[in-house]
Amino acid sequence: MDVRNCKTCGKIFNYIGGQPICPTCKRNLEDKFQEVKAYIKDNPEAQIYQVAEDTDVNINQLRQWIREERLTFSDSSTIGIECEKCGITIKTGRFCNRCKEDIAHNLGSAYGTQKKEEVNEFKNKDTTSKMRYLNRDR
Ligand SMILES: [Zn+2]
Ligand SMILES: [Zn+2]
Repeated sequence: MDVRNCKTCGKIFNYIGGQPICPTCKRNLEDKFQEVKAYIKDNPEAQIYQVAEDTDVNINQLRQWIREERLTFSDSSTIGIECEKCGITIKTGRFCNRCKEDIAHNLGSAYGTQKKEEVNEFKNKDTTSKMRYLNRDR
């Protein structure tokens, strides 16, 4: 049995995977998510800080939902996050379409040999986001 402290309220709970959040906080977070989703639907032009303020959700949490592709925005929305590879503004996920293709291409050829260097370079660039990911899950 894996027992951990909830990241949000500090209570000890039986950890079953995913984010280290107790069932109560998870439910609250899910409620918040629905609230944010409804807010964005009603206010498609809102800035991300406005969303955070009006729904009382921290911006990092919002960005995480965007990264997880749970939150998406209309094309007219100015909300976006940076592609983790090239920094261009995207609406959802971790990479822009171009980088996604690049990555798929690199990964595909990584099983060969000659593209190894390129893949390593990308891995290095990606270290910070990986660390962020690890921290998040702790
Ligand atoms: Zn909790
Ligand atoms: Zn990109």
